[in-house]
Amino acid sequence: MRLVLLGPPGAGKGTQASRIANRFGIQQLSTGDMLREAAAAGTPLGLRTKHIMDRGELVPDEVVIAVVADRIDHADAANGFVLDGFPRTVPQAEALDRELAARGIALDAVLELEINEDVLLVRIRGRAEEAANQGQSVRRDDNPEVFKTRLKAYRAQTAPLTEYYRSQGLLKIVDGLQPIDIVTEELTTALGTSCCG
Ligand code: AMP
Repeated sequence: MRLVLLGPPGAGKGTQASRIANRFGIQQLSTGDMLREAAAAGTPLGLRTKHIMDRGELVPDEVVIAVVADRIDHADAANGFVLDGFPRTVPQAEALDRELAARGIALDAVLELEINEDVLLVRIRGRAEEAANQGQSVRRDDNPEVFKTRLKAYRAQTAPLTEYYRSQGLLKIVDGLQPIDIVTEELTTALGTSCCG
């Protein structure tokens, strides 16, 4: 199964992508995680993109498209994947369609977590506080100022993907404000499968 998980920053994409990946035995492919790892390791990719991420802006399409095109060829993605944080622009979605078609595969569904924007800022504060309380490192872009930039990027560049995928008949929308377990169940149901354990 090949999926895309869409939703604004703070919607819980990472959590739900991880659960969906576990349930269906597919790989979670998070471009944010890949870029953060590259930044932490100080690779050329990381050095190029770190300051862009820290500002909450989107890294250039061609950079992230190359990362994903390479990643989906890894053996662990052969059984399927859920893309988390990609695509984030229409050109990225078009490139994804091309890359998949070139491999003779296609997306099975696009899941969108729908969330009222007023709730997001509260969530992002909670996420930063929770990480800090648990002694985990807080994401540098999980602060209210940078979050506003991330939300702006989402509205301007990512929100159009809803129509892009709706017109392809792939879109399934779930209310992301519900408790985490319910969201997972509804995502699973939306995929037309009663699943697993
Ligand atoms: P995320 O963890 O998905 O919230 O991503 C964190 C940051 O990584 C974003 O704010 C962007 O700077 C960058 N990023 C992740 N995925 C993409 C993408 N598909 N296109 C552009 N930038 C991305």
